[in-house]
Amino acid sequence: MLKNVCNCEFTNSLKLEADFGADPIWCSLCGWNLDIDEFPLKDNLTNDLFQWTEQYKKIPINEHNAIGQSLTEKVKEELGLEYRIIFITDK
Ligand SMILES: [Zn+2]
Repeated sequence: MLKNVCNCEFTNSLKLEADFGADPIWCSLCGWNLDIDEFPLKDNLTNDLFQWTEQYKKIPINEHNAIGQSLTEKVKEELGLEYRIIFITDK
């Protein structure tokens, strides 16, 4: 459960979505772009997430979505059941 990191008092509802110049994890309740340093993720997963956002619109959409889906599963594993994390497919 994250406290006071976005416009919500508490949130455990997150979404993974790439956008230019943004961190890849967002609050899915208020849409706030969260600081990835708030999360206890392993460095290599954090790096993979940043690499994925840097490639946004530079690789084919189906490839982008496949990587995003797989990263979402890894984030779920590392953050555990306390969080609800969804992946937003790019169209
Ligand atoms: Zn929020």
